[in-house]
Amino acid sequence: LNSAKNKGLALALYQSGQDESHQRELTIIRDLPIALSSGQMYIVYQPKVDILAKYCNSAEALIRWQHPQLGFISPVEFILLAERSGNINLISNWMLQSVIKQLAAWQEDHPDLTVSVNLSAHDLLDEHLPQTIVEWLEEWQVPVSALSLEMTESAVMQDTVKVINNLHQLKTSGIRLAIDDFGTGQSSLAYLKSLPVHELKIDRAFIKDIENNFQDALIVKAATQLAMGLGLKVTAEGLENRSGLASVLQAGCQNVQGYYFSKPLSAEDFSLWLTLFSSQGGTFFNEV
Ligand code: C2E
Ligand code: MG
Ligand code: MG
Ligand code: MG
Repeated sequence: LNSAKNKGLALALYQSGQDESHQRELTIIRDLPIALSSGQMYIVYQPKVDILAKYCNSAEALIRWQHPQLGFISPVEFILLAERSGNINLISNWMLQSVIKQLAAWQEDHPDLTVSVNLSAHDLLDEHLPQTIVEWLEEWQVPVSALSLEMTESAVMQDTVKVINNLHQLKTSGIRLAIDDFGTGQSSLAYLKSLPVHELKIDRAFIKDIENNFQDALIVKAATQLAMGLGLKVTAEGLENRSGLASVLQAGCQNVQGYYFSKPLSAEDFSLWLTLFSSQGGTFFNEV
């Protein structure tokens, strides 16, 4: 057939596809700052459950963006663009301040709740970060132990001296620190011993099929034993079903975050969920 013509058409289609995704990226980057101040961004909270104590006193805060033209945009997409365009600090500051205000509001009903906020590599290089966060906590009279910060292995590994210095300051001030998505980056269990962190979150990649995959189960068990041996809290991310829960328990992992317990919820719904769970949390575990 007319292959030259077909190639030309394919190339045109490919290029227009490229243009479209480029246009989308530009729109996202352009609208990010306005979105934060105009109510398009909001926060959802996903419970982290202690499956041995059958108890919940922590959650992860996750950002959401409902764009007026583009609709729902996943943080997987716009966090990367915010990092690349130098706007991630706007998001991180907004998250930290909003979560701290929410924690202040929750002090009466949920005084022992700890909420974690995700930070990016760039945030960890800011030498003013620890002091800034401590001042916000003081301003809202929120105990430092109510805040936890999640960061990936690669974010910690970038400019180690600067980052480790910040982590030490944060830890000294009483703020909790967690390694996120453990197992997906340049993992080395050895470097965990030198990091001033409290918690290790095992990536969903190892959890999502744990009941069927004995290798995943072995990896989760080994990572859990090592991390617990180093005195860390271990959390399995992304657990969706009951059979997975049994496998995670068998691997010795004590804390679980995932759709099985709850999807991320609005602040109001999370508060209701927490009250309900603390009164009848055991029912989640009946047949395990
Ligand atoms: P993450 O920090 O590892 O957060 C966990 C992600 O797994 C969340 O996706 C959560 O909704 C999802 N998840 C939890 N349980 C399950 C499950 O059982 N099944 C499945 N399929 N997914 C589950 P989300 O909210 O889309 O966030 C994706 C990523 O975007 C986060 O991964 C984090 O890296 C980033 N992110 C989200 N919010 C923020 C933020 O405020 N700041 C920064 N810097 N990054 C954020
Ligand atoms: Mg996280
Ligand atoms: Mg994670
Ligand atoms: Mg992630």
